[in-house]
Amino acid sequence: MNISESKRLFSEAQNYIPGGVNSPVRAFKAVGGDPLFIKRANGAFLYDENDNEYIEMINSWGPMILGHNHPLIREAVIKAMESGTSFGAPTAKEVQIAELITSMVPSVEKVRMVNSGTEATMSAIRLARGYTGRDKFIKMEGHYHGHGDSFLISAGSGAMTMGNPDSPGVTKGTARDTLLAPYNDLEAIRNLVEANKGEIAALILEPVPGNMGLCIPKDGYLEGLREICTQEGIILIFDEVMTGFRLSKGGAQELFGVTPDMTTLGKIIGGGLPVGAYGGKKEIMDFVSPSGPVYQAGTLSGNPIAMSAGMAILNELNENSEIYKELDEIGSKVAEGIKKINSDLGFDYTVNQLGSMYSLFFSSKEVNNFDDAKKADVGLFGQYFQAMLHRGIYLAPSQFESLFLSKALSTDLIDKILTSHEESVKEIH
Ligand code: PLP
Repeated sequence: MNISESKRLFSEAQNYIPGGVNSPVRAFKAVGGDPLFIKRANGAFLYDENDNEYIEMINSWGPMILGHNHPLIREAVIKAMESGTSFGAPTAKEVQIAELITSMVPSVEKVRMVNSGTEATMSAIRLARGYTGRDKFIKMEGHYHGHGDSFLISAGSGAMTMGNPDSPGVTKGTARDTLLAPYNDLEAIRNLVEANKGEIAALILEPVPGNMGLCIPKDGYLEGLREICTQEGIILIFDEVMTGFRLSKGGAQELFGVTPDMTTLGKIIGGGLPVGAYGGKKEIMDFVSPSGPVYQAGTLSGNPIAMSAGMAILNELNENSEIYKELDEIGSKVAEGIKKINSDLGFDYTVNQLGSMYSLFFSSKEVNNFDDAKKADVGLFGQYFQAMLHRGIYLAPSQFESLFLSKALSTDLIDKILTSHEESVKEIH
């Protein structure tokens, strides 16, 4: 495979961009080799600068759930562009998308649009603190909530992959108010709450974490968190930046039947444009400026082009609930196929899957939390990644990520993924 143009661009990029990329995990540091520079994408495929074709397994880290360059989104964006790109004033589209989000995710009674998942979680924590008058919050080890200072403590995703889950630059004072707990362990939460009684504003988590590789909540875990938070007046925040509109129309909270006080959203909500949102109970959301005292703002928030892309994708997901059945089938076919091939070859690697998200861990142990995930063999994952890439399958370049499958993945392509998996696993052993 000739990737000379990607190599040339990566070398040039390093003169002007730190590490040559605008988001660390893109540099392929954890898997070796040069990152691919992408020229275009369509449906289930990505094309690099040398026009090599790859089957997409990440889909821009989640947003492209319908596949790339979807006509509904493309047409909505082009139409919106004809009326101008930004006004910095309220628009009808913001009202429409807020109404749609609140109907799809009923726990979100009011919603504020922002420009990224990072902004959504930062704003949600500030609001929870302002509303409760408490400073501390609980975060799960290995969960990633964007790059806000108070979240870069035992953080998953790129921070974990790059070996800096506790980033320099985060002050000790900031870190002190972030209380850490292992995921899937209710006793640990009870102990933390007891030791910090009356001081905890919020508990934030990815209800189904994807940022340390995909983990599944144990039976009763999310319900248990709900109960503790209600008892203690702690605001329960589900960070559904990944899982929102992906695991079901109403996200993980609908799937597991557990209602948080607040929800953060991103990725799919912008159809591939930079959008995030946070929302929740009216009484909490009304604490945000200008209806309340907690300040949060944005020059481009509610941008009309981004809102149009978001509306196009959300309407499609809202009106065609069979899409989630299709996505579940796609996810199961890939994950079950991988498990079968592994078992036929005598490997007992762990595969965690839910709907169209899955992770293959190079570990024979169950993976239910950060400590389990860290036991996976990252060296072997790197070899597997390269073997798959050479067969035209574009995986997330880290063991500690979930894959995000799209509706564009046909049966033929799933067969190609599975054949490539079998060949790759054989090759690396
Ligand atoms: N929260 C979760 C669960 C995420 O997965 C991410 C990004 O991957 C974020 C927040 C941050 O979103 P963004 O990268 O848009 O700032």
